[in-house]
Amino acid sequence: MAKLIIVPTPIGNLEDITLRAINVLKECDLILCEDTRTSSKLLRHFQIDKPCIAYHMNNEHKSMARFIDVIKSKEKVCLISDAGTPAISDPGFLIVRECIKNEIEVECLPGPTAFVPALVASGIPCDRFFFYGFLPHKKGRQTALMSLAEMENTIVLYESPHRLIKALEQIKEFFGENRQVCVAREISKMYESYIRGTAEEVLNHYKEKESIKGEIVIILAGKE
Ligand code: SAM
Repeated sequence: MAKLIIVPTPIGNLEDITLRAINVLKECDLILCEDTRTSSKLLRHFQIDKPCIAYHMNNEHKSMARFIDVIKSKEKVCLISDAGTPAISDPGFLIVRECIKNEIEVECLPGPTAFVPALVASGIPCDRFFFYGFLPHKKGRQTALMSLAEMENTIVLYESPHRLIKALEQIKEFFGENRQVCVAREISKMYESYIRGTAEEVLNHYKEKESIKGEIVIILAGKE
């Protein structure tokens, strides 16, 4: 019986991979990788030597039928992305849905993802939260910010370092300067940092920096 196994991989520190993830990758027949070159470093590090094929946003639509045929012809196929949990702001949802339609068993291993440590360490309530991921760059951005600003639950955004200042300026504008914000940067890496404060304080902190590097999660308190 064919099975698709979604395998989370480290978002920084290689030690964050689970023992189960390593074993499952070692035992599978094939690995679908978002980027085979990126994943080859991780796989080599853990001495995992399995055939890999690319599954990414540029081929997932047009080659889906072929991917399903390939999975059906195997026992265990793993899906990994460049970092974290596939399908969380990464390719994965379409193949999961298609496997379910084709009665292929789907399993997702628990493991690394950026938003959980960011949310938990933010100090902002994490009992109810809304994961939004990346804001639209242009069209729909203002509408998204306006509706997010009205939410009473904590909000989770993914952001790139070169858009952080613009995002924080807009958060201050749409959510108000006193909204509690946490910027989690480089989680599980050497220069991990959490900057917590009001929208204005966090914006001012980053405005003083000469350059902003690394990967970023923004946590926003809900509307009171
Ligand atoms: N699938 C991944 C997950 O499970 O979190 C997310 C992939 S998405 C393409 C990449 C974004 O995740 C980055 O732009 C950043 O917002 C966030 N991210 C990934 N690794 C991170 C880290 N180590 N620290 C902070 N944010 C991170």
